[in-house]
Amino acid sequence: MSGTCYRCFKAREACLCPYIRELDTGVKFVILIHPHEARLMRTGTGRIAHLSLGESELIQGVDFTENERLAQLLSDESYYPVLLYPGESARTTSDPAFRESLGSRRLLVIILDGTWAEAKKMLKFSKNLQALPRLSFNRGYRTHFVFKREPSPDAISTIESCYYLIKELGEIGVADTTGVENLMSVFERMVKFQLDCEYERRRLDAPERVALSQLKINRFSALNKT
Ligand SMILES: [Zn+2]
Repeated sequence: MSGTCYRCFKAREACLCPYIRELDTGVKFVILIHPHEARLMRTGTGRIAHLSLGESELIQGVDFTENERLAQLLSDESYYPVLLYPGESARTTSDPAFRESLGSRRLLVIILDGTWAEAKKMLKFSKNLQALPRLSFNRGYRTHFVFKREPSPDAISTIESCYYLIKELGEIGVADTTGVENLMSVFERMVKFQLDCEYERRRLDAPERVALSQLKINRFSALNKT
């Protein structure tokens, strides 16, 4: 093993840094990363999203109620802060009320980076996050992250969330989508690398399970052809 890249937190041979293009979307993103997810250097996409989004910050924690940096951002009146999280009160990007509330302020999108259970816990503990208006997607999306097991097929990774949200915000003139496809191509490169590694590992150590890896690779290629 030749170590880890301390910028993208991937193994050196899987370093994504040369493929990351910093985007200037005009939207500020704050990625709140669960400590567990932060340690998952192999599969986490929050960090890659952060490196790709020029105007973004990554804050680690579970309970953000007393988080100074977040409090600072939330009290900045030049921003309209929203929590990207589903719920009955959540507005979608196509909701005229969302556009109205935003007004001339800059959109600040807060994203919880973790599994569904971790994100739920973060929200449960963080009183300041509970008070935020919620934003959710206009359309349903399926993840291309065939590597990770999520309890719900609707659960999409943080970097995919950013990608789809920027596209939707672009449709209503709130975000600049220039170069946004790069988010998805970096993500796909990451998933493909993980799948290839798993295949290779199984080929050597668990040949009876190679078929399963091949199945995932096929599923991934099929997803990315459409
Ligand atoms: Zn790197």
